[in-house]
Amino acid sequence: MSFEIKDRDLLARIGNLQTKSGSIETPVLLPVINPAIQPIQPKVIQTTFRCPALITNAYIIKKHFNEQATNQGIHTFLDYTGSIMTDSGAYQALVYGDVEVTSKEIVRYQEDIDTDIATILDLPTGWKATKERATYTVNETLKRARELTEIKTREDILWVGPVQGGHHLELVARSAKSMGELPFQIHALGSPTPVMEQYLFDTLVDMILTAKMALPLQRPLHLFGAGHPLMFALAVALGCDLFDSAAYAIYAREDRYLTEYGTSRLGELEYFPCSCPVCIHSEPEEVMNMEAAKRQEILAQHNLFVSLSELKRIKQVIIEGRLWEHLELRAHGHPALLKGVKNLHKYAEYLEKQSPVTKKRGLSFFGSVDLARPEVIRHRKRLLARYSPPQKARRLVLLPQTQMKPFHKSREYQRALKRLIREIGDAIERVHLCTYAAPFGVVPVELDEVYPLSQHEITTPLDSETLAYVASQIERYIAVTDYEIVVVLLDQEMWKGKVRASCEDACKKKYVPLRVVEAKSPWDEDVVGDLAVALSNTPPAGTQPNEARLT
Ligand SMILES: [Zn+2]
Repeated sequence: MSFEIKDRDLLARIGNLQTKSGSIETPVLLPVINPAIQPIQPKVIQTTFRCPALITNAYIIKKHFNEQATNQGIHTFLDYTGSIMTDSGAYQALVYGDVEVTSKEIVRYQEDIDTDIATILDLPTGWKATKERATYTVNETLKRARELTEIKTREDILWVGPVQGGHHLELVARSAKSMGELPFQIHALGSPTPVMEQYLFDTLVDMILTAKMALPLQRPLHLFGAGHPLMFALAVALGCDLFDSAAYAIYAREDRYLTEYGTSRLGELEYFPCSCPVCIHSEPEEVMNMEAAKRQEILAQHNLFVSLSELKRIKQVIIEGRLWEHLELRAHGHPALLKGVKNLHKYAEYLEKQSPVTKKRGLSFFGSVDLARPEVIRHRKRLLARYSPPQKARRLVLLPQTQMKPFHKSREYQRALKRLIREIGDAIERVHLCTYAAPFGVVPVELDEVYPLSQHEITTPLDSETLAYVASQIERYIAVTDYEIVVVLLDQEMWKGKVRASCEDACKKKYVPLRVVEAKSPWDEDVVGDLAVALSNTPPAGTQPNEARLT
């Protein structure tokens, strides 16, 4: 296999893709080269921008330069020695109807020009396709994919097997599964133009993850037509490894200036919010006054610089294990992107399953979006399915989270423990102290130093979804355990009654007596005293369910 994975975070990976012209570190951006109109020459893309790969269109080259490219070879023809990927004309088929070339011709042509990564002539589904039409595009693309082994004559070219289906997710899944069974080295997903133009990032999440879940994970995935740096973090986090950008040139033609958080019109800019070599040496007004071709070149250069630097930033956060934090930062750059990130909760279990556990960085939690994080799901699964409380500890005491972590090392906790021991003596052995904390839920004291239960920061006051989540986790924990009594110390201000309601519901269902000690300052000496009293006056199980005690 020509793809090696070096590092991972969420579904993202830093990898090495080997082609016959060299190695490409992924995630990678392949600038789209149109040999007919090109604002930045391929040689400059290689030397100044240090791009290890680019993408061009075999159909357009065949149509306009046919034999010149076969005679010279694509590398000489473009004056570029890095890896070259060719698209097959599928996009032209989508925009202009049928393409004047057969599947067999375009496969052979890509071999003849000596490309490094080639694409079969797939039939793009597009956006408005009915289910019937979409089914046809999936089947026809699969048919052409199966024919490839008989048509191709070389073994040194990597072939791309595109997934079709558009927004018909069941078709995307079928297409991906069947395509993944064929001997392709790379897969690709077409991102229909409206997804990009109308910022339908929630749909994009559905499409990418549906494909991803059905494809072989060890093969790289190319996301077609996703050239705006705004969305790289999302696409990389979902496991896309290759991108092509025509955006850097197309936007430049329309005097549009890309940033990692959106798009500006050149005419509206007073300052360039960028320190790339172009922006550092000029002001928007100067660029505005340049002649059109020069202006386009300058803007295309900036657009490419900003796209490449966002990918570098993403690679660095993958190494640091902070991709989620970076994704969240980008998501707050545009409401539609945040909508996409919010859609991840549907796939949280899959994300958790595929995300590495080895990163030991402290986590930052900002709000309810973070409840879909793999670490939160992982704690929930482990606690509810695999954890058993210490055998002797039959009385559950739930304490509110403290500012300091690990919780059991906080002053509040230590003082409370001393007081409890003074009041109930050896009976403390029968007590199981747990903390309820956002965002994880119940944290048994003996686990509170396990990563990441202490290694995180969270924004307070908590939002209502996070409050509700923690409360629901307490309820589930009581449901799966078997204590003879539950005593809960409640911080009224922070938990707004939700924890109390959950404890009451859970204990009622299990016929477990509940004691509630509630106060504005739950760690005050006399409140902790009440906690000790509640704990020492424990009736036999089942006699007084749900009796609450208030201070
Ligand atoms: Zn710039």
